[in-house]
Amino acid sequence: MNIGIIGDGQLGRMLALAGYPLNINFGFLGDKNSPCGHLGTVFETLDELQAFADVITYESENTNVDWIKNLTTDVYPKQKSLFTTQHRGREKAMFEQLNIPCAPYKIINCEADLQAAIDKIGLPAILKTTTEGYDGKGQYLIKSDNQIAEAWASMNGAESILEGFVNFKRELSLIAVRGIDNDHKYYPLVENTHHNGILRLTTAPAQNIDPAVQQTAERYMQTLLDEMSHVGVLAIELFETDNGLVANEMAPRVHNSGHWSMEGANTSQFENHVRAIAGLPLGDTTPTHEFCAMVNIIGQLGDVNTALNMPNAHLHLYDKAPRKDRKLGHINITANSQDEMDSSIKQLKGFLP
Ligand code: AMP
Repeated sequence: MNIGIIGDGQLGRMLALAGYPLNINFGFLGDKNSPCGHLGTVFETLDELQAFADVITYESENTNVDWIKNLTTDVYPKQKSLFTTQHRGREKAMFEQLNIPCAPYKIINCEADLQAAIDKIGLPAILKTTTEGYDGKGQYLIKSDNQIAEAWASMNGAESILEGFVNFKRELSLIAVRGIDNDHKYYPLVENTHHNGILRLTTAPAQNIDPAVQQTAERYMQTLLDEMSHVGVLAIELFETDNGLVANEMAPRVHNSGHWSMEGANTSQFENHVRAIAGLPLGDTTPTHEFCAMVNIIGQLGDVNTALNMPNAHLHLYDKAPRKDRKLGHINITANSQDEMDSSIKQLKGFLP
């Protein structure tokens, strides 16, 4: 089987690395000088990718929906998943429709809209572009009325969304996979620590999660998977608050907060996405260890030998040139006790802010 991936970044690279042992070949749409350049044929046009592929997937929610609409090859996740998740307004509307708690919000197209939305939602609130934002880009935290003009100006006229500020205790995420035959599997909730909007550390499973909270997250996830007839991996970012879980956003793809699963779960999110879109049975998502963690390598490689010298650390590099705030790789840690995990993360402190 040949899988075509629209995109050429680290997610495509790790999907291919997970799929080759299953005798699946990969082709990419993108650039030869990319993280995927050595992992399969890189095509310059969608027509060429389609001629190669038995099934097509994509590694970004910013993929053009029209591209997918016009393909005659099977594409997973399907159009509804992509269309919904690439727009924060549509995503929030779906949360509301499915009774999944989320922050109050209003779509903003001008400064007057913003003023009116703040009158309703109150401050603090976060203004975000409705599309294309990632790693905290395209966002403005508004704390007082005198920031309104500056906040709107920073959106450069782009359609935006104002969201009420959620007072959260922790940031969690849930990753699930759904097969073509409607089989579902869920990974455990994980805890995510960001710095300047960029994920730096994931601990998996998140500690001190009441089983009822995991069940609630899975219930929200299942309604989303079913509503979109989603096929493949779906990730949802959640805020843990005193009043329960509040949904932030979702991604129709493998997610940075699931990278720990490469060594930390019986089947990684990458292999499960490949299995799902290839029509194969889904793999078991149970963690291999009671304590796992993932540390992102951001901006510069640093002393990666530290990780290579640790018996319980696994280094994954993406073949990308160093650049400020760029994700260059990650290190997964597996541990049998909280102490072992904490001391391992401490040994990797050079990679953390
Ligand atoms: P996002 O791009 O939506 O994931 O936002 C990036 C980060 O900004 C999140 O991981 C949170 O730390 C923070 N954030 C986003 N939306 C909100 C919100 N409504 N309330 C509080 N913090 C938020």
